Amino acid sequence: MEYTTLNNGVQMPMVGFGVFQIRDAKTTQTVVEEAIKTGYRLIDTAQSYGNEEAVGKAIKTSGVPRKELFITTKLWISDFSYEGAKKAFQESLDKLGLDYVDLYLLHQPVGDIFGAWRALEELYKEGKIRAIGVSNFKPDQLANLAAFNEVTPAVNQVEVHVFNQKEDEEEYMNSKGVQMESWGAFAEGQFDVFTNPILVKIAEKYGKSTAQVMLRWQLQRGIVSLSKSANPERVRQNFDIFDFVLSEEDMQEIATLDSNTTVFADHHDPKTFELLASFVGKSF
Ligand code: NAP
Repeated sequence: MEYTTLNNGVQMPMVGFGVFQIRDAKTTQTVVEEAIKTGYRLIDTAQSYGNEEAVGKAIKTSGVPRKELFITTKLWISDFSYEGAKKAFQESLDKLGLDYVDLYLLHQPVGDIFGAWRALEELYKEGKIRAIGVSNFKPDQLANLAAFNEVTPAVNQVEVHVFNQKEDEEEYMNSKGVQMESWGAFAEGQFDVFTNPILVKIAEKYGKSTAQVMLRWQLQRGIVSLSKSANPERVRQNFDIFDFVLSEEDMQEIATLDSNTTVFADHHDPKTFELLASFVGKSF
């Protein structure tokens, strides 16, 4: 496993396993156990995924010492306030059966971000969270939060895949010491990503799958990647990316696939904020 050092000195694995859209508790527990057995040390869940308890069970049964694991969870927007964040964090911790998490993220850049962030800063200083960060923040939103608070986010988890490469955002985050972490490394399987001719050609050259090429491309860019699979064979396959290196030519060819295409929504579009607000009964 390769690691990156966050802006507060904490070591974070470069490759992680995510559990979005695996709601069934038994399946979640089984695949997380499989992921840890395979070698994954970074597990990414969230309050809104509804599966923190199952993740916690898998952590317990894995037999891997707690300090070797890197557990991320996220605060959902329904609890974006100082008090709400404190309460929701404790609930997440209880569900996970842990006494600290490695990374806690504000899931979306909406609502009372500042109130919630101040709660995270306190929990961080109390040692209940080893690093605090954000998710789906554009560089301007990140700058606003960082400039008016004490602790700079250690991580920004954003949608990054071959069709949405965000090179300019990565450059900005790097310049401020904020680690880019990607979600949706396979574009959630959309746009025929697994059979894309450029990716197929490169994959054949190395005797790898297109999924492995996409994850390797992120690793070589210095991005912490997450992938999700409920299929044990693919869980193992997605971890087997440390024995080949994409050439500079391959990296440049993959760069040509960028079309700024999102699988979710543009976080600068007011409609996105209206949609997110509607999830918690707010409208404009
Ligand atoms: P993803 O990893 O891009 O794609 C998952 C899809 O790819 C699933 O349909 C999966 O199917 C398939 N797949 C996985 N490995 C494969 C392989 N080797 N070959 C072929 N198909 C494969 O999408 P994601 O789950 O949305 O994103 C990954 C993680 O990022 C999430 O689990 C979550 O932890 C995080 N995330 C965060 C946010 C955020 O707002 N912060 C948003 C979305 C996701 P099978 O399961 O059948 O293999």
